[in-house]
Amino acid sequence: MRICFLVDLPLGIWQWDDGLRGAMQILEKEHQICYHLDGDRHGHKPDFLFCWGGTLSKTYREGLDWAGEKALFFAGGPRDNIDELREWDIIYFENEIHTTEARKMGLANCMTAFGTNTEIFYPMKQPKIFDVIYPGAFGLWKRKDLFARAVKGLRALSLGNIQYHELQCWDVCVESGIAVAGDIPQGRLPFFMAMSKSVVVLPVPEIGGQRTVLEAMAMNIPVIVPNDAPLVVEFAEKGGGIIVDPTPEAIRDAILNVPEDNPKGLEYIKNEMTEQHYADRIKEGLADDV
Ligand SMILES: [Zn+2]
Repeated sequence: MRICFLVDLPLGIWQWDDGLRGAMQILEKEHQICYHLDGDRHGHKPDFLFCWGGTLSKTYREGLDWAGEKALFFAGGPRDNIDELREWDIIYFENEIHTTEARKMGLANCMTAFGTNTEIFYPMKQPKIFDVIYPGAFGLWKRKDLFARAVKGLRALSLGNIQYHELQCWDVCVESGIAVAGDIPQGRLPFFMAMSKSVVVLPVPEIGGQRTVLEAMAMNIPVIVPNDAPLVVEFAEKGGGIIVDPTPEAIRDAILNVPEDNPKGLEYIKNEMTEQHYADRIKEGLADDV
């Protein structure tokens, strides 16, 4: 089958070393796949169009105009998009919560497919220089302010894409004595994560950060998430995540008391959430549809 895969976000903002990339590399063994990761389009007529989309990306809209078979990898949930989502032949959600929600709303053409890239994220030995690391964008939705208050005086590192309209998230970390950096290539991220005793992911309730949660598990590092963010709790429950109240005190307490590793998380990834599992789920979806 000839597959075109479209993403319109510039590389660097959209990280392309994740589980989906690993899964696509596996699919490349059976299918002819071409990628358009930079907004660039060719006049291809593939058998299947794949799009990766958030809520209102350009690629997402372009997919809707495509007359042939099309699959959407959707990081968001069904709530605001239910009618548009009906126009896809298949939608892969990252979260079971989203798939269940979509089915309840009468969307039949959806399933959960997700995983992490274990070629990049695996247990590695590095000196433990940090108590905690928070990988992820400096935006309000990542609650970096909460992180800053929780880790004052600890050896903490925060790194990710700096969203310039929300510079206060970056400032609050700097002012709180946290080592900060902007985005780094995702393939380099594990070397930093391995230098830390723990990973935290503190999204607001509506938004995820589930990729990072899986990446920490794949590296056998304890991961801490807030109990009011169901999209990350879904995975934390399965993979030995530490689920806490979204308060500076509770987060700090969890960081100071983390176990040395997270074998349950590592096991969960190996058994259910590698790029191979991701690829298998994608294939299942295509087989049902075609
Ligand atoms: Zn193409």
